[in-house]
Amino acid sequence: MHICLVIIAIGMGACSSTRNTTPPPQEPSAPLAKPKNVILLIGDGMGLPQITGAMYMNNNQTVFERFKSIGFHKSHSSDNLVTESAAGATAFASGVKTYNGAVGVNAQKQSVPTLIEMAEQKQMATGMVASSSITHATPAAFIAHVNSREEKEGIALGFLNTPIDIFIGGGMDHFNRRKTDERNLVDELTAKGYQITSFVDKDINNLDITTKKNIGYFTANEEPLPVASGRDYLIPASEKAIDFLDERSPNGFFLMIEGSQIDWGGHANDANYVVSEMHEFEKVVAATLDFAERDKTTLVIVTGDHETGGFAVQPGSKLNDIKVAFTTKSHTAIMIPVFADGPGAEAFRGIYENTAIFDKIKEALELK
Ligand SMILES: [Zn+2]
Repeated sequence: MHICLVIIAIGMGACSSTRNTTPPPQEPSAPLAKPKNVILLIGDGMGLPQITGAMYMNNNQTVFERFKSIGFHKSHSSDNLVTESAAGATAFASGVKTYNGAVGVNAQKQSVPTLIEMAEQKQMATGMVASSSITHATPAAFIAHVNSREEKEGIALGFLNTPIDIFIGGGMDHFNRRKTDERNLVDELTAKGYQITSFVDKDINNLDITTKKNIGYFTANEEPLPVASGRDYLIPASEKAIDFLDERSPNGFFLMIEGSQIDWGGHANDANYVVSEMHEFEKVVAATLDFAERDKTTLVIVTGDHETGGFAVQPGSKLNDIKVAFTTKSHTAIMIPVFADGPGAEAFRGIYENTAIFDKIKEALELK
């Protein structure tokens, strides 16, 4: 009785439960289901403020309501609480915290293996789609190893070193109008058996994905346009990449899709730019979830590398008419949400370092 009185002082629940001799049913701790495929979608510069702004500019609806497994990652790099995209993507691609600007190398500037390289080693199919140049910091960190994100032509060489099955993005100049050497990487990739085409030859909707060859498709010579200026390829490119990889992957596939320009809207402190890029990216997420729900063997993960702009939905905002302020033209250090769905999605609940996203994907796909 004396003990019970003490427990009452702490809390009624504890005392009353001591009277009940039947323990509450335990959740079975079954091992997490293993996916066959992983699709990682990265909204560059996408934090909760961008998601919130896009939601209130879309009748209070967001694609992220479709996810049940939600977490947060700590985005800081090895040398700065405020990361940038190269260090952020290297954390996702290789599981190391590195210095700002590093692409596929650790803080000691040593190459670190990437998810695409590891998936290729396991005979999986791989791909990348971006609404920036394909040599931009985020896709670069999945396939190249250079000391600085500014080494665009060095990054392009990464596409010759790893037999990625499909890549779609801008930046063709870094392949066939090179300044640092005389090489023509479009010719070299073609000689290696790639089907290389571009916006000059055909619309993305006419891209032939029935080929047995690996595919490269360039969407621009330099950086692609913003959505608001007419760029419209990210959704069809993502759908084609998924269909192509699904078709050729008895061992599964890994695909990275980047909504690259949410970040650029943040740097420009342009709310319409941010929201229009968000709405396109959300449609890509929706199409990916639609595929995964049909397929049932695909783990979908969506996150950002960092927030950009210190974006805030301000007092005076109304539904579909928000007032926005920015605190900076650069990035911020706010924690970034992670959304997961499909086999193994539960592993992405909680709060963890950005490098844990690599660890969890590696574990899910049993990569070495
Ligand atoms: Zn940025």
